Amino acid sequence: MQTQFHDLPAASAGTFRRLRSLHFGRGASGRKAYLQAALHADEVPPLLVAQKLATRLAALDDAGAIMGEIVLVPMANPIGLAQDLQGSLLGRFDLGSGVNFNRQFRHLTPALIARLSGRLSPDAKQNTRTIRACSHELLTEWLPTSETEALKHLLQTLAHDADLVLDLHCDNQAVVHLYTGTAQAEAFAPLAAYLSAQALLTSEVSGDEPFDESASRIWWELSAHFGEHFPIDPHSCLAATVELRGETDVSHELAEQDAEALLNFLRHLGHIDGAAPALPPSCPATPLEGVEPVTAPAPGIVVFAKAPGDWVEAGELVAEIIDPLTDARTALHASVSGRCFARSARRYATRGMRLAKIAGAKPFRSGKLLSM
Ligand SMILES: [Zn+2]
Repeated sequence: MQTQFHDLPAASAGTFRRLRSLHFGRGASGRKAYLQAALHADEVPPLLVAQKLATRLAALDDAGAIMGEIVLVPMANPIGLAQDLQGSLLGRFDLGSGVNFNRQFRHLTPALIARLSGRLSPDAKQNTRTIRACSHELLTEWLPTSETEALKHLLQTLAHDADLVLDLHCDNQAVVHLYTGTAQAEAFAPLAAYLSAQALLTSEVSGDEPFDESASRIWWELSAHFGEHFPIDPHSCLAATVELRGETDVSHELAEQDAEALLNFLRHLGHIDGAAPALPPSCPATPLEGVEPVTAPAPGIVVFAKAPGDWVEAGELVAEIIDPLTDARTALHASVSGRCFARSARRYATRGMRLAKIAGAKPFRSGKLLSM
């Protein structure tokens, strides 16, 4: 294993932030898997899972079982991790800009289309290499102007040539669930199965350029653009956001279990030598456009009737809101049937707040599909 340290440019005089990336394997197969933990810095379960992964991957590396290269960034966001305000760790948004740390990665497709003109060939494998080289050129030309932009630039650069990208997160209160591109649902069903995920949410474009899409989306877009004349594998990079339950679901047992599931998926894809265990059944893939964000139409005390993992029928009570000023009670009923996979950890709602998410099977939303 090799350890690399990456220093971010200081946002302010006298401050200093650093990340590390752990590099396993000797790259013999030419394939690369990239995993990072807690881009939303206050999401602690993936930080512990990464600890377990690092130990396990080091042992596998010593045994010569890493087939290509596996890169692990066990703590992806030192900026957010230091945003401790009066007892609350605020690691989701950059306090300086208000921008979500998992948004506004570079969408390279338009620049790649221009740059690839005259550089593609009839050989799909060669085209994969050429596109990665062009992506690297574009990322090198990106000159970040802030510490947070430098962080995004670093993470996107570390992942740009990977065949597999797993961005490890968690939700407020949740069961395990995954987000990926629509075309990659089948590829990630085994990961959903190994993790016992209860929702596998897919979208073509979820909006605002989250990290996983910055790695995967270029491939199906370039394949659609050039495919008639030059073959491009639309799955050259499989990428998913993996939500490892809720923010307080931190235990050695769960982390070991999740690390084992992730390693089994890496075995399944041939990044690690050895047979992966037989696949348990997987939850069905459902469209992100079908997720109902149950939203508070009024402020008040939130009393949930449903918990993550519960199946909800359309029309069933999900939560009640009680206004402490007027005593008015508002019942919130689901409008779709599906698995409740996440809910807020807060029990006081302001008007318009999203309280719970239900994975419906039928698309009914459009536009920006992720929460803030
Ligand atoms: Zn997150």
